Amino acid sequence: MSASSGILSIDQGTTSSRAIVFALDGTKVASSQKEFTQIYPNNAWVEHDPEEIWHTTLETCKAALHEAKKKGVDVAGIGITNQRETSVVWNKETGKPIYNAIVWQDRRTAEFCNSIKDQESKVAAKTGLLLDPYFSASKLKWLLDEVEGARELANAGKLAFGTIDTFLIWRLTGGKKHVTDTTNASRTNLFNIHDLKWDPELLELFDVPSSVLPQVLESSDDFGMTEAGMFSASLPIAGVAGDQQAALFGQCCFAQGDLKSTYGTGCFALLNTGSEALKSKHKLLTTIAYTLNGKTTYALEGSIFTAGANIQWLRDGIGVIKNAKESKVLAESLDYDHGVFLVPGFAGLGAPHWDPHARASLYGMTRDTSQAHFARAALEAVCYQTYDLQQAMESDGIASSKVLVDGGMVENDWLCQFLSDMLQVDIERPYNMETTAIGAAYLAGLQLGLYKSLDDIASHKKIEKRFTPSIDKGIRKKLLSLWQKAVESTLAFSRG
Ligand code: ADP
Repeated sequence: MSASSGILSIDQGTTSSRAIVFALDGTKVASSQKEFTQIYPNNAWVEHDPEEIWHTTLETCKAALHEAKKKGVDVAGIGITNQRETSVVWNKETGKPIYNAIVWQDRRTAEFCNSIKDQESKVAAKTGLLLDPYFSASKLKWLLDEVEGARELANAGKLAFGTIDTFLIWRLTGGKKHVTDTTNASRTNLFNIHDLKWDPELLELFDVPSSVLPQVLESSDDFGMTEAGMFSASLPIAGVAGDQQAALFGQCCFAQGDLKSTYGTGCFALLNTGSEALKSKHKLLTTIAYTLNGKTTYALEGSIFTAGANIQWLRDGIGVIKNAKESKVLAESLDYDHGVFLVPGFAGLGAPHWDPHARASLYGMTRDTSQAHFARAALEAVCYQTYDLQQAMESDGIASSKVLVDGGMVENDWLCQFLSDMLQVDIERPYNMETTAIGAAYLAGLQLGLYKSLDDIASHKKIEKRFTPSIDKGIRKKLLSLWQKAVESTLAFSRG
């Protein structure tokens, strides 16, 4: 392969579709991005138009490939990473979706999920997930039950279900491949993460005929060739992973105990637990990190529903800051004993509490309380919440020796330092922040033989900055204890 080889990474996210061509050392060669419409047909319903997802993906791929070609980079294949759990059903004969994609945030199936709550421990044992509208199975059931004629067509074997990776691969291969990878399958509530098969008992519980399901491949695998004429050459699709797993891979978290935490609108922390599917006692999810050469690596996953969103609220909701950057300067202006705590339950509280009814609360204000306290408390909260996840993971069996961070929020040095202080481990911020997209490219590159091994991939990684713990131990203990009290009060308030 020539020195100018590249890999096209498709990063199909919740608000935009992106295509990035990476050189093998991880340098970005070309990129294109297009936002698409968010559809809110009802309270707590969120949909995407699959055709718009397809067109924005296709256009961005063409633009990135064109730019890469101009720069003399020869694209060898495609990796795909995608918004997880979002569900599409289409007609296998016409290729047309029968309805919009139901997005991961959509809560329309909450009542159904509650009605089978007594099955949760069985579902959790098989899938590693909770019984929640978030995951694909209840969305798929809704599509089959509510779209006119869908159930009959499904029973006749005429419909296909897929998460976004599957739908894109179907379109890219001209309908030749109906496939997914283990990481995406592990987010459906239908896939047994231990034997790596669609589970007949779960299919029955969610009333899903097996004929609609895609074949499940490894994360680096042969997902088919793009249809002739779509791009200037037909390209192999060689790597697939859901977005958070792709970020874990892109951060080179290949060893047991490696933890990555992404701080965007929300926060997702994934801990590599090796070949062991650890069962959490703290409401963390057990999920598939990746499957390579017949070997599956698992992860524990914890999410914080609002992270950067707290800062957005300060800016857009109550107008106490002008921009996100300002939060750093304001936070630095106060001492550790400023005394204000924000428990950001704006959208309920995630792991380790999973209280959807929790509300955000602010503690410890005085007449001196200023915008600086708000900013500092909002940043601190994200670090305390990550500490809670770290503790949950540790008590579930695996401690991490460092945390690899990414996402828009971690450009804030103050946040990274406070995170290191609370977690008492090094925080590493990579030079290349496109961890999700690069993860999919790495998976494809492995399959295509462009990388020899995981070590070969890791050799390209560059750390931009490392933060090490420096806080006084006594101060830390006091802060964590006050945080704990604030969370307990918030949970008590939510119980009524
Ligand atoms: P997403 O991928 O979820 O859209 P990004 O990774 O782009 O999110 O991160 C954007 C989020 O990061 C926003 O919520 C914003 O408030 C927050 N953010 C951006 N810069 C900073 C900063 N310097 N300090 C704190 N938060 C920031």
